[in-house]
Amino acid sequence: MRYIEPHGHMVSRTTDDYQAMVTAGCRAVCEPAFWAGFDRGSAAGFRDYFRQLTEYEPARAAKFLLPHYSWLCLNPKESEDLGLAREVLALIPEFLDRPNVLGIGEIGLNRNTRNELRILEEHVALAVRHDQLILVHTPHLEDKLKGTRLILDLLRAHPGVRPGRVIIDHVEEHTIQQVLDAGFWAGITLYPDSKSSPPRAVDMLEICGRERIWLNSACDWGVSDPLAVPKTALEMRRRGHSEDFVDAVLFRNPVRFLAQCPKFTVRAEPAG
Ligand SMILES: [Zn+2]
Repeated sequence: MRYIEPHGHMVSRTTDDYQAMVTAGCRAVCEPAFWAGFDRGSAAGFRDYFRQLTEYEPARAAKFLLPHYSWLCLNPKESEDLGLAREVLALIPEFLDRPNVLGIGEIGLNRNTRNELRILEEHVALAVRHDQLILVHTPHLEDKLKGTRLILDLLRAHPGVRPGRVIIDHVEEHTIQQVLDAGFWAGITLYPDSKSSPPRAVDMLEICGRERIWLNSACDWGVSDPLAVPKTALEMRRRGHSEDFVDAVLFRNPVRFLAQCPKFTVRAEPAG
């Protein structure tokens, strides 16, 4: 089989993980900028992280013949210090022309605060100004439904946002349909003990259809599984879905979205 990992925080993973992903059929990995587990103290800390995402990590992945792409932003959790957030926003443009940068992400909301909304708006304006794809993180648990509505309202109100160039990630059963109905792409995140599981993800595909949806593992520094995407193929096959269905959801869908950025290229020959 062949698949894309469209949302993996590879700086947190080992080389064994790269090897296992390639062995399972991974053809490209895309890494959104993420919270480090602690708040970075300065814009210089973000500059180093952006260099890691655009220089060091693609080189590490290349040793496993895996194309590595990245998305840049600061995480919603780091929006409360508006001064620092704006310093970081100001340095993003100098990285946007790097050969592996696909767009702005993962932006969004965490606790749905006023400052998070303000910095989300500024990220969206930056993306529109530079004609970038957008990857949006939606909040956890009890904040998810309200946060998703706030994000959709903000995106719809912003002139210049084209929904087909925006993916709203971490959707769940109660948010996926409104994301799709508004014309956006939806990402389903497979986590061992939160967000979605493989059976829940396949349920959603069966209910909502397979158009404009991708699956990802988000594999980060917390409890997560970098092989969650290929493992979900087993759940699809168990339910009688065809190999074409598996390939459409795990490979062709993410390629269709990501290839809207001309820098994204992938070996397209069918799986052997
Ligand atoms: Zn993430």
